[in-house]
Parts: sequence; C-alpha cells; structure tokens
Amino acid sequence: MSTDRTARHRRIALVAHDNRKQDLLEWASFNVETLMRHRLVATGTTGSLLHDELELAVERVDSGPLGGDLQIGAQIVEGDVDMLVFFWDPLEPQPHDPDVKALLRVAVLSDVPTACNRATADFLISSPLFASTLRPTAGAA
Ligand code: PGA
Repeated sequence: MSTDRTARHRRIALVAHDNRKQDLLEWASFNVETLMRHRLVATGTTGSLLHDELELAVERVDSGPLGGDLQIGAQIVEGDVDMLVFFWDPLEPQPHDPDVKALLRVAVLSDVPTACNRATADFLISSPLFASTLRPTAGAA
C-alpha cells in the first residue's frame, strides 16, 4: 500500500442551516486547499453553494429539510464519514428539528469528530489526528 498522502483522503460531511451558510462558506474558503484533497458530501443547498462558490467537488444528498440530514446520518452509521461539519442554527427552530437531533445523535454514537462552529472546525481540520487515519483512495497505487 502506498504511503503517498496524496493517494489518501478523509470523508468530510458538511451541513449548514441557512443562517450559518455564510459562516460555512467563509470557513471552507479559508480551508479550500485542504478540503479539495478530501471526499466531500453535503446536504443539497450547502453542497451547491460549496460547488458554485469554491468549485469544490461535492457529493450532494437531498436538502436537509427533505431528508438530507438523515442521509448523512445513514452514511455515518455505515462508517463512511470521518468528520462532520454541521453548522446548525442555534437561534431559529427548524422544520426538521428531529432530523437535526438524529444527525447529532448518530455522530456522537459513532464517535465522529463533529464541529458545530468555526472555531471547532479549525481545531479539527488542523489537528495532527486529522491526517493520521486517512483512507486509501480507490485506484491509487
Ligand atoms: P441544505 O440543508 O444544505 O439543503 O440547506 C441543510 C439543513 O437544513 O440541514
């Protein structure tokens, strides 16, 4: 197996509620060089924003209120997510609050590093632990 770090990646899930999307975009913009080396999955509108504004390749599930949070939660349960950046809105109730709670619940249950604000997201992405358990990228020598 190659030890080439470019042939390895982490799988990062990104979700932001509407009032937090600008925050997420600014954080992702600052970290775009790092993010582009990993596999990204996001809820619908968040993913479109990251793709359109930063040209990041992002797998998009459905929009959060339509079940996207649950789809990301299912990927967590399957062991397919290494880090969750979930900028949920602490000031506005969401129509899909049960889904928000479910996503946070499985993230804790599955011990997935989870950032709900920029300070924590910065700590996670700059941690030496972030690079220590990279997944081999399919097809890499
Ligand atoms: P969105 O979903 O990225 O489709 O806006 C986020 C959410 O509300 O959970």
